[in-house]
Amino acid sequence: MSGRSLPDRLVLLGSKGGPALRPGGPWPSSSLLEIGGRAIVIDCGLGVTRGLVDAGVNLRALDLIFITHLHSDHVLELGPLIHTGWTAGLATPVTVFGPPGVGHYWRRFCQAMEFDIEIRIVDEGRPDIRELVSVDEFGEGHVVKQRGLKVTALRVDHPPVTDCFALRFEHGGKSVVFSADTAFFPPLADFAEGADILVHEAMLEEGIERLVARTGNGARLSEHLLASHSLAEEAGRIASDAGVKRLVLNHLIPADDAEIGEADWIAAVRKTWAGDLTIARDGLVVGLSGGKAAQGEGTA
Ligand SMILES: [Zn+2]
Ligand SMILES: [Zn+2]
Repeated sequence: MSGRSLPDRLVLLGSKGGPALRPGGPWPSSSLLEIGGRAIVIDCGLGVTRGLVDAGVNLRALDLIFITHLHSDHVLELGPLIHTGWTAGLATPVTVFGPPGVGHYWRRFCQAMEFDIEIRIVDEGRPDIRELVSVDEFGEGHVVKQRGLKVTALRVDHPPVTDCFALRFEHGGKSVVFSADTAFFPPLADFAEGADILVHEAMLEEGIERLVARTGNGARLSEHLLASHSLAEEAGRIASDAGVKRLVLNHLIPADDAEIGEADWIAAVRKTWAGDLTIARDGLVVGLSGGKAAQGEGTA
């Protein structure tokens, strides 16, 4: 998405960790970063299309999409997002940057939707969506440098997934870093050094036992969570060591426990982080221009 002048901002479209949905609860991972006139989608969990429309984004102007890893709460709606943009009039190239395997997802999605794609090309005169989209599978290090935008990746610690990457976006002296899904990973502090915003995943220890009791997958799920994700105080430690300007806690686990509120997240992260803080919720806008917080921003 480009061509119009946008104020730099981050919109947290989906703020929960994990793919399960519950009535009244938040939605899985996706974010919108508008920086230097570009609008960039980071992760495509279920709800990304709805979230972008609600944030005022014209889907026909999609152009850069980044996927941190192939867990479904980060990639499930990638195909439907691009396809919906296409039916909304998308006729310009889209690049999907993701780990190895994202191209396989995209090709198979197009195969699954072959009937609809073929019929719309013939019946509605649309360009071939398979030719509009290019997929760039990246590894650690340099990802892309384009029109003043620089993106780099760091492999993080998210077993059993090995291709999971934190991403750093830089443009015009501003920088935003996404941790992706990771256990406490000290090299992230160097990677995020001096960033304007660090969006870090987080979970609350006291919420995990209650969560596994509810989802009925007991010990295995608890083991996965503790080995593959970061506690809020660990996210705070990374932010402090990196000296970022603002920490955004995102990919919250648990995210829809009535017993756990913003105050609990703040209490946990304040053990290790004294700076500007935002606890994510769906649709929340975080300004990138510095100074005063944007309207609707949840700061603490
Ligand atoms: Zn996840
Ligand atoms: Zn994951």
